[in-house]
Amino acid sequence: MTHPAQPKASHFINGEYVEDTAGTPIPVIYAATGEQIATVHAATPAIVEQALSTAKEAQKAWAKMTGTERGRILRRAADIMRERNHDLSVLETYDTGKPLQETLVADATSGADALEYFGGLAASLTGEHIPLGEDWVYTKREALGLCVGIGAWNYPTQIACWKGAPALACGNAMVFKPSETTPLCALKVAEILIEAGAPAGVFNVVQGMGEVGGALVTDPRVDKVSLTGSVPTGKKVYAAAAEGMKHVTMELGGKSPLIIFDDADIDNAVGGAINGNFYSSGQVCSNGTRVFVQKGIKEKFLARLAERTGNAILGDPMDEATSFGPMVTENQMNIVLGYIEKGKEEGARLICGGKRADMDGYFIEPTVFADVTDDMTIAREEIFGPVMSVLDFDTEEEVVARANDTEFGLSAGVFTKDFTRAHRVIGNLEAGSCFINSYNDAPVEAPFGGVKASGVGRENSKEAIKHFSQVKSVYVRMGDVEAAF
Ligand code: NDP
Repeated sequence: MTHPAQPKASHFINGEYVEDTAGTPIPVIYAATGEQIATVHAATPAIVEQALSTAKEAQKAWAKMTGTERGRILRRAADIMRERNHDLSVLETYDTGKPLQETLVADATSGADALEYFGGLAASLTGEHIPLGEDWVYTKREALGLCVGIGAWNYPTQIACWKGAPALACGNAMVFKPSETTPLCALKVAEILIEAGAPAGVFNVVQGMGEVGGALVTDPRVDKVSLTGSVPTGKKVYAAAAEGMKHVTMELGGKSPLIIFDDADIDNAVGGAINGNFYSSGQVCSNGTRVFVQKGIKEKFLARLAERTGNAILGDPMDEATSFGPMVTENQMNIVLGYIEKGKEEGARLICGGKRADMDGYFIEPTVFADVTDDMTIAREEIFGPVMSVLDFDTEEEVVARANDTEFGLSAGVFTKDFTRAHRVIGNLEAGSCFINSYNDAPVEAPFGGVKASGVGRENSKEAIKHFSQVKSVYVRMGDVEAAF
């Protein structure tokens, strides 16, 4: 019998599911069991062509609709997503292995928030009037045209919506390529948009590996590329986009610092460290994986952290009591286990976890290392798994310098009761998305994105509009034209 996760076809183009079995088969593996639950096919050149030419054509009429009309469609799509939250969350769990306890509140709901927020903004995207005596200039905020979205595997529904919603609100069309690891959820987003009244072709999904992404990014008809992925992929995609002078948004990886001062509320700080390291089994780009703890509270912090981490419930992700799921793939599990071995070899002190869980699926125990030093591999490289590194520090000046000593700059957090210090420290940290006495909140109203190697551009909030539109400026002369001859 066909598994309920199997989609009708691999791609969604011009308002309908499309198949081309000549494309390389991509197995979809359920991370909690290792069982194959679905198969899709990578896009052939013919599928890529169909998606791009359809989107290019559909964009023209979409951009001519009023913002109110476009916004209404996006908001209707948000309502449909919320109505179907349970089914979409189950699919997200099949796609990623993340526990239903999380997907019910963090994926389709976050996608719906983006559709609703940008749907609400669509009608307000205007230019300005600049008086120049009798003459004037007016500006128009125009769509970029055809946008390509490329997603990572940790938040397949959310990433499709975070890119699709602002793109469509501004009057662009999109061709979205999910990660080959999690190809299922974006198809549902495309289906829902059509149901909500989006014209065929404005949001299309094609499957495939990096080479399909490469074909999309280099196509001369494409005006903008928005990627969520790793830094090495980001560098390749940015360079390819630069060849065609295309706009880019790059949401890349991180190795973010979370700084906990002696005066912090210990339980809140432990909660922040747990949210910033173990949510989605650590597969979150903005995670605060370098937890700097001031020496005075170090042992107290570690004891409470170990105690609370022991309460994680590993198990069937479809059971709502489960609070900690598997790694997305066997490969990712092995990468993370490799980092854990490195941590042990390089002399970090294992506080808890540290091995594969004794159960089916790709589960790794939530792992905490203490006495980590700045030069250790686990303190320098993005692990993308449930491995927290706790480092000690003495002074504010010292911790800020050490926190900034990384190529990344996605996020940063500080826990302290001293508000002057909190704002001063955040002001001195090189990061795009910061938190005071909290960690990893990502509301659609707030800009999200990194500095340094963690990326360029911002998603969410009004900032995203700037990255999916451009300004045309029009000088209007009322009098005669003076010329030298
Ligand atoms: P990858 O960088 O491996 O892949 C990202 C996407 O790019 C995938 O869809 C991939 O396809 C595609 N791709 C790979 N090579 C190319 C290419 N040459 N041209 C065009 N597209 C290409 O990232 P992961 O999927 O492994 O995701 C994990 C990474 O994503 C982490 O580093 C994480 O930090 C980052 N991330 C960043 C976020 C942010 O907002 N800043 C949020 C979430 C994750 P395929 O995989 O199918 O081959």
